[in-house]
Amino acid sequence: MEILKCAGLTKVYGTGDNQVTALDHVNLCIEKGEFVAVIGASGSGKSTLLHLLGGVDQPTEGKVFVEDTDLSTLNPTSAAIFRRRKVGLIYQFYNLIPTLTVRRNIIMPMLLDKKKPDEEYFDQVVVSLGIQDKLNCLPSQLSGGQQQRTAIARSLLYRPALLLADEPTGNLDQKNSREIIEMLKLSNKNLKQTIVMVTHDEKLALEADRIITFEDGRIISDENRRR
Ligand code: ADP
Ligand code: ADP
Repeated sequence: MEILKCAGLTKVYGTGDNQVTALDHVNLCIEKGEFVAVIGASGSGKSTLLHLLGGVDQPTEGKVFVEDTDLSTLNPTSAAIFRRRKVGLIYQFYNLIPTLTVRRNIIMPMLLDKKKPDEEYFDQVVVSLGIQDKLNCLPSQLSGGQQQRTAIARSLLYRPALLLADEPTGNLDQKNSREIIEMLKLSNKNLKQTIVMVTHDEKLALEADRIITFEDGRIISDENRRR
């Protein structure tokens, strides 16, 4: 079953002489449960793709479907709800709220929805990420690896079907990178979560089931490594 589809996806930034075509009519289909790595040189359109898949930004042309929902049909409120509940977003620089504790950061998407987290699942997530002793700390009191684990816990709490990660290990040392990747692989396997991970690290990409390579806003190779 496909969870994600884009058709003719195009993003042009700027106007007039300053136009940059970041994505150029990209077609892509991702099956439920796939772990996909997106690689390519800096400026090839990887981050732009992720922003469009997550509904964070709008395409200039073309469409994104997530579980048969055409993202272009969502009004701003539904789009925000869609992003919180359906898609987990993980960034290189964590995007934690500095004035909130780790616990509050993790449950923030649910607070915004006036929902209560499942405490048992919350405990399971923070223990598996090894941050159970840090819940009352502020992000500034954590190491980079712990901050990224907090961001991952936040992205997992809604059990989103789709996890989008932009250079999730870009700012971490090798040991932490390895652990983060192992965690992503586990949630991919156990929760059947679909993962799309942007990375410039080709060794890291080898951990994925499928490697899609971008060049100048186009897919130049799409390699399925598990079948
Ligand atoms: P990557 O993630 O592969 O480094 P990006 O998607 O960030 O690539 O960028 C693709 C191209 O679009 C680059 O030429 C970049 O400079 C340009 N670009 C990205 N975001 C913007 C923006 N907000 N405004 C103008 N140009 C942008
Ligand atoms: P990454 O390194 O993770 O690919 P970037 O550094 O490309 O991220 O982009 C970081 C932010 O800056 C994004 O929000 C992107 O839209 C914006 N951006 C990237 N390139 C440009 C550009 N040439 N002009 C304006 N904004 C840009």
